[in-house]
Amino acid sequence: MLDLAIIGGGPAGLTAGLYATRGGLQNVTMFEMGMPGGQITTSSEIENYPGQGEVMTGLDLMENWPAQAMKFGLKHEMVKVVQVTKNGDTFNIKTEDGKIQEARSVLLATGSVPRKAGIPGEDKFFGRGVSTCATCDGFFYKGKEVVVIGGGDTALEEAVYLAKMCSKVYLVHRRDTYRAAPSTIEHMKKTQNLEEVTNVTVEEVIGDNMGVTGIIVKSKIDGTTRQIDAPGAFVFVGRDVLNEPFKQDGGSYLCDVNEQGEIIVNLKMQTSVPGVYAAGDVRIEAAKQVVCAAGDGSTAAVNIIEYLG
Ligand code: FAD
Ligand code: NAP
Repeated sequence: MLDLAIIGGGPAGLTAGLYATRGGLQNVTMFEMGMPGGQITTSSEIENYPGQGEVMTGLDLMENWPAQAMKFGLKHEMVKVVQVTKNGDTFNIKTEDGKIQEARSVLLATGSVPRKAGIPGEDKFFGRGVSTCATCDGFFYKGKEVVVIGGGDTALEEAVYLAKMCSKVYLVHRRDTYRAAPSTIEHMKKTQNLEEVTNVTVEEVIGDNMGVTGIIVKSKIDGTTRQIDAPGAFVFVGRDVLNEPFKQDGGSYLCDVNEQGEIIVNLKMQTSVPGVYAAGDVRIEAAKQVVCAAGDGSTAAVNIIEYLG
């Protein structure tokens, strides 16, 4: 029987694992379906993690986190959790390989996944020119033109990153003001080979047998359309919480969630079900920052230790 099952190995899950094991829990397993590190490992740069003076990649930031937690006894199983259910006072963790493990407490730290923009052609060309990860796929467009869709921190940061290797970046946004931090907007505006295409709706991602060839946008001002030719289209239009494994057979959730499916917690990261905690981007009102996810993970672990007695 596990003392604690941590679902997700991003900043929240890893920090919870560190605090839980270092705080004395003996049997803690972190279920992470990929390499530990979380979504920040897809980021080309991070410059707001306290204590890290230099701009670094997300991969570099997360490099030492797993080993630090495992030093104190955290176990990692690289497998996807398909369902967490309540079984009396304990919980069953069902994984993709068909196994079921029992745990006395659970931390839900599954974060979020890139949202789809819902543009015709987006699904058809996903992986064939449409991407949601500049650090993963930017290299394929070295010296070529690309389109970036979105107007938040991610779109602007990744557009600037892509501009360093691509001949030109078209930043395509549905409004003419951005949701990003002022310093990020300033950085974007100073980027020479970046063209802002604002107040437009993306009508379609177009392509051929080889993949994406461009996009068609329609002006919200005068209704005119424009074709932008580019072999790559990066979509950064926000993220949706990943709560699939917490859905129960009847369609309800393991614990209370809000309308967006975000897990409702109190300041101790406790959910509506005793023994179930949530941390990081998957919870309500998350600031969606690495430092906040890590803070949530530590808060949850401290309270889980107290809960288990
Ligand atoms: P995540 O990092 O999303 O980790 C969740 C983990 O759970 C993932 O590794 C996933 O594989 C795993 N998982 C999900 N479902 C399952 C399952 N069923 N079974 C097993 N494992 C599962 N924040 C900043 O502070 N500064 C920045 O500069 C910054 N830049 C960013 C740039 C980009 C491109 C992106 C995408 C995000 C950025 N963020 C930044 C936000 C930051 O990355 C997140 O707030 C943070 O990673 C949230 O951590 P988390 O642990 O809650 O979730
Ligand atoms: P976001 O802030 O939600 O921004 C999404 C952007 O996509 C918005 O500009 C939105 O337009 C646009 N959009 C949404 N749906 C669309 C659609 N269907 N078609 C076209 N455009 C669409 O998402 P994000 O940039 O991924 O950031 C997510 C969170 O992570 C934020 O809290 C952010 O601050 C954080 N983050 C922080 C950093 C950092 O600290 N440096 C870096 C990256 C991310 P509107 O503006 O019109 O709504």
